[in-house]
Amino acid sequence: MSIEKKCVEKGLKMTEQRRVIAKVLTSAQDHPDVEMLYQRAAEIDSKISIATVYRTVRLFEEAGIIEKHDFGDGRARYEEATDQHHDHLIDMRTGRVIEFSNDAIERLQEQIAKELGYQLIDHRLELYCLPLDAKKSAK
Ligand SMILES: [Zn+2]
Repeated sequence: MSIEKKCVEKGLKMTEQRRVIAKVLTSAQDHPDVEMLYQRAAEIDSKISIATVYRTVRLFEEAGIIEKHDFGDGRARYEEATDQHHDHLIDMRTGRVIEFSNDAIERLQEQIAKELGYQLIDHRLELYCLPLDAKKSAK
């Protein structure tokens, strides 16, 4: 489902600019920050301000439609909230974010929580990495 549709379902008032920002978020695969979202939104509607992007992103986040991440560089990055869980690997050299999920890690985390007397509700896992072969992964 598109972010725009989710917003409508949650009863958010959708202005034209919010629609543009929702569209940009829906098509983003790269966990953009506000600056990147602003650039993409401004390409569609040059009247959109970065303040509007900030406000809209916060609104969508508070509504649980998008998720905020901090990948260690101080920039808040965003992606659509989904039921399908995944973790992130961050290439510290390029800032590229790779999504992955691993059943063994999922089970291990549940087991650790259980051993400590807890039921695991949620978790976030971020792997901060440098490429093994810098030449191979260079663009
Ligand atoms: Zn992700």
